[in-house]
Amino acid sequence: MNILLNAGPWLPVPPPGYGGIENVVATLIPELRARGVRVVLASVGTSAIEVDELISVYADGQFPHLQKPYNQVMGIAHAHQARVAEELRRRDDIDLVHDHLEVVGPGVLAALDGPPVLHTLHWDLHKHAAFYDSFPHKIAVNGVSHSQLARAPEALRRAALGAVHLATPLAGTGLRVERGEHLVVMGRVCGLKGQHVAARICQKLDLPLTLAGPVSGLDTPAELEAVAQDPSHPLYGHPDVRYLVDHVSTYLDGDRATWIGSVGGEDRDRLYASARASLFPIQWDEPGGTAVVEALALGVPPVGLRRGCLPEIIDHGRTGFLADTEEELAEWILRVDEIDPEECRREAARRFSPAVMAERYLELYERAIRRSPVAAR
Ligand code: UDP
Repeated sequence: MNILLNAGPWLPVPPPGYGGIENVVATLIPELRARGVRVVLASVGTSAIEVDELISVYADGQFPHLQKPYNQVMGIAHAHQARVAEELRRRDDIDLVHDHLEVVGPGVLAALDGPPVLHTLHWDLHKHAAFYDSFPHKIAVNGVSHSQLARAPEALRRAALGAVHLATPLAGTGLRVERGEHLVVMGRVCGLKGQHVAARICQKLDLPLTLAGPVSGLDTPAELEAVAQDPSHPLYGHPDVRYLVDHVSTYLDGDRATWIGSVGGEDRDRLYASARASLFPIQWDEPGGTAVVEALALGVPPVGLRRGCLPEIIDHGRTGFLADTEEELAEWILRVDEIDPEECRREAARRFSPAVMAERYLELYERAIRRSPVAAR
């Protein structure tokens, strides 16, 4: 099988630091290739993952532009997708397109008389109501959790072949380092991820906390500082920047409670693997939760609010804890040493390994090909 895997123009595959979708794509590709699938990757020029072919418009990731106003940013996704479309018009050896580009991906692909498409929905499906309500019927989709699909608009639920949980290469091979005392929140800094709740609880309980992740595309405290000093900067006043400055930093002392910016590679794995617990005080229905799966794989018990995909990833009391309120979350954090890290690792290896995810996708590729009008013709 020959597939074109579209990872979009935002970050390289694998990403140097933050990047949920790109991490999952990077996890999937070697598994597919090991099973004889030929992979043409549509991404950016700096993508270093081994593939059969790489196509791109942009030399490097466009993520820093993603926070700009719509009229300044929409051309990026379209330029990338126009390149994908051109490739599909030019050749006839692609059996399936596995697309991961929000809205623009299926929007453009539906207008082509091209190969069958499987589009993976990584997002909160309450966005884009008009688009999802009249979703292109030719395109098959999958969700990244059952709870995400259960809340999806009707048209999407009809098009969905099922949910495929996210996976991590850390499952089964996860780094083992000495456990520290710190708690960690690993994710982009924004109100949805709830860093302010983690920071408030840790201050109250006097527990050390490390917040890792970019804010509005800014990777370091120095970059944030520069933006905060410059009212003419496009990100000055950005909601996520304001969130960090106004609602999170009041709890940070730069010593026991810190925001360290984005971490990548081995630094990330080490910081994550040495944490006493991984906190998910989410303020939205998290659709997939790569960071939750990674926490399990590293034997770092996840403790979070009972929302979105968390209840289907975390088994309360066995592989982590789920709380309904902030007060309850604080209580479970204090009991985190009751969770056996080995049980977390075993769960990740059993349910969230790259092989499990790849087998599931191969099954969906076959189904997407079978039900496609192109295949029928
Ligand atoms: N991440 C990272 N460095 C950071 C913060 C996050 O490598 O400083 C990674 C994290 O490990 C995960 C991904 O970025 O793989 C975030 O994906 P997730 O699905 O958890 O969140 P979202 O896609 O909603 O931002």
